[in-house]
Amino acid sequence: MHSRDVDGPTEKCGVVGISLSDRQAARPLYYSLYALQHRGQEAAGIVTHDGFQQHSHVELGLVGDAFDPEDLSGLNGTTGIGHVRYPTAGGLDEGCAQPFTVSFKSGALGLAHNGTLVNADEVRDELAAVGHAFTTDSDTEVIAHDLARNLLDADVIEAVRRTMERIHGSYSLTIAHDDRVMAVRDPGGNRPLCIGELDDGYVIASESAVVDTLDGDLVRDVHPGELVILDRDGAGFESHQLLERDRTAHCFFEHVYFARPDSMIDGTLVYETRRDLGARLWADHGIDTDVVMPVPDSGRAFASGYAEAAAEDGSEVDFAEGLMKNRYVGRTFIMPTQDERERAVRLKLNPIKSTVEGRTVTLIDDSVVRGTTSTQLISLLRDVGAAEVHLRIGSPPIAAPCYLGIDMATREELIAAGRSVEGIREVIGADSLAYLSPDAVADAIGTGRENLCMGCVTGEYPYDVSGEATDRDVTRPEIDVPADD
Ligand code: AMP
Repeated sequence: MHSRDVDGPTEKCGVVGISLSDRQAARPLYYSLYALQHRGQEAAGIVTHDGFQQHSHVELGLVGDAFDPEDLSGLNGTTGIGHVRYPTAGGLDEGCAQPFTVSFKSGALGLAHNGTLVNADEVRDELAAVGHAFTTDSDTEVIAHDLARNLLDADVIEAVRRTMERIHGSYSLTIAHDDRVMAVRDPGGNRPLCIGELDDGYVIASESAVVDTLDGDLVRDVHPGELVILDRDGAGFESHQLLERDRTAHCFFEHVYFARPDSMIDGTLVYETRRDLGARLWADHGIDTDVVMPVPDSGRAFASGYAEAAAEDGSEVDFAEGLMKNRYVGRTFIMPTQDERERAVRLKLNPIKSTVEGRTVTLIDDSVVRGTTSTQLISLLRDVGAAEVHLRIGSPPIAAPCYLGIDMATREELIAAGRSVEGIREVIGADSLAYLSPDAVADAIGTGRENLCMGCVTGEYPYDVSGEATDRDVTRPEIDVPADD
């Protein structure tokens, strides 16, 4: 195995591409970004093409703040792509906002990327050596330059194939090459990407909730290693299977936490998977308590599946919303210090005293990362008089970092790194704690464990990450990097 560095900021984002017969694409792209807002709140952008020239508007902030009506009316053309960007540890950085655009001899390119490359530095160095100038440390810029170079001496399909052979890691991309919209998904299919049919065109998006929002019909997922090219007149699309892998590397965490519950990913409805995970939690680790309550909103589908399975088994457990959420407080993860994160949990969630006072409680969430949320909530529930607090988690312990596009935490920050379940229970102060096994999660998702990326659980990655183990044979060709003379 040879190793590569994981470079640049992690790109945990949402992407979309649209081609319509004769309607302006800007509005449907804008609605699509709203539907993908949960995938990124730092910046939003749209790039369109009117057949003559490219138009672009990219701004920091939520979708609703990034565009005003004039911005949208300036985005002419029936084809285009869009992007929402997730906040990264380095804070706000306008240069990294997307879609990334570059003009070159054979036209204008726009690129929207979800995922993270594991060999961006290597490709960037190689391109810099032949004269490409880079303005950001984003791996999306690396993809854009590599593709632009390949488009100079190959047709579009061959150019994309060459770029896909050169870049490694996780990528779901929507690409605007002048007024032609394309999409590719890495050969492991790590991040989701699907195709939808509209009344007057086609859409490609990170999640099928976009297709629903536009009143379209989900056609199918983009296959891992596939290039999809939308017809310019919105009448259909071409498919080219450019790279194949024996096994996929779908991210299990999309199903557990990241994707919207109303999205279908790789053939399964996320909501049903989460309910199934909840039912499995009851089957494997159920405990009779007076009340079951979700951590809102992340634990909700899990808790309803758990409570339903408990009731079917004859348990008299009560299902209650015992924690009220202040929806105006941002995700705890974007608070830079531990102290701020702890305060944010307290601001975000407040218990309803009467549902917990004097009662035994099972608290349900999708995941424990740093342990901040669960530690705080357990102490809050005790403060308002809970007799016992048992925690049930709908995924395995997260014990290793994600290098493929989910902003988790460093290994040192992860509460499960180097700790047993009993050790974690002690730190977070629960009366009991249980997680689901990786196999139970894989069974609920239904693709088989060998087809999932579970790197953050096992510490073995399906991609070739520097300094980390892999769970599969990595057989990619050594590329000749031009030598310095
Ligand atoms: P922690 O408080 O660090 O243990 O994080 C766990 C909580 O954050 C759970 O309620 C999860 O639903 C949520 N969560 C898990 N992963 C992420 C992520 N990558 N970004 C933001 N929130 C997350």
